[in-house]
Amino acid sequence: MRSHRGLRALLAVAATACLAVGAAQGYAVVVVQPGDALGSIAQRYGIGVEALSEANGLGGNLIRPGDVLHVPLQESRGGLAEPAPAPPVGFRRHTLAAGETLSSVTSLYGITIAALVGANPDLSSLDRLPVGVELLIPPGEGLLVTLEYGMELMDLLAAYGADPIAVARANEIRSPFDLRPGMLLFLPGVEPTAALERLAAVRELENTYVWPLHGRLTSYFGRRNLGLGTSTFHRGLDIAAPTGSTIVAARSGTITFAGWSSQGYGNLVKIRHAGGAETWYAHASRILVRVGQGVSQGEPIALVGSTGISTGPHLHLEIHVAGRAIDPLGELR
Ligand SMILES: [Zn+2]
Repeated sequence: MRSHRGLRALLAVAATACLAVGAAQGYAVVVVQPGDALGSIAQRYGIGVEALSEANGLGGNLIRPGDVLHVPLQESRGGLAEPAPAPPVGFRRHTLAAGETLSSVTSLYGITIAALVGANPDLSSLDRLPVGVELLIPPGEGLLVTLEYGMELMDLLAAYGADPIAVARANEIRSPFDLRPGMLLFLPGVEPTAALERLAAVRELENTYVWPLHGRLTSYFGRRNLGLGTSTFHRGLDIAAPTGSTIVAARSGTITFAGWSSQGYGNLVKIRHAGGAETWYAHASRILVRVGQGVSQGEPIALVGSTGISTGPHLHLEIHVAGRAIDPLGELR
């Protein structure tokens, strides 16, 4: 069972509430999808069909995909028909503030990323959550699930290999009468394996290359004519900027080389990324990192220079995938 409708609703409420604050009119903006009817949208947001129709100046109940509807939030009791179920005892709530990351939140509460994911298994991303998203802070490691309608608690516990006594204690269940369909149940010690795997895959996709330096592009990837009928293959992208400008890691990874290259690169930094790709940063005036060090995307690694075979201060950037240099222009975001 991987459905956690309650949590999804909770996150949606947080997102909708933000929208309302931002828009200041107290509306959720809904784009009509194929298959949507006025009645189903009204039901989704816990508002009457007439009120929804009136709020949008609709003559009848006819709406088309792509139509934009404004759903008044005051009348919708917070945005959704399905109220967010309360988490079990010991959970706290944290609203993501500007500048915060999931890592900073876990440090703040002294919990692991796995624990945070276990309490919020429906997060869409580890790195790109918007400000205002509400997170549940768990009392410990475990997985928060919804007890679906028609599901037996014992089947649920067996599916996750959860300890019934620990679950009963964590959720203050003293009798079967304490169980309600749709309630959130905390399964202590159960690892959120599926959510962690999904989020790791998302992170990998998200972890694209950013510009390590901005400046003027003075030479592109590919064959370059040297005149007199000779040419050479330029394995990177040259970005010219003043000496001493900061070069940052295009993507997070581990430093595998930081020093003088005898092959014309001058002061060279190489970073190995998840999956085995590498980025090379050449001609630096100064190197700010050392071999073995982990760097985050955007972290300073060197200063622009003109060391090695170079005619002026610039960064020569190479991206290697499966041991072969590829055109950085196609990768940088
Ligand atoms: Zn170059």
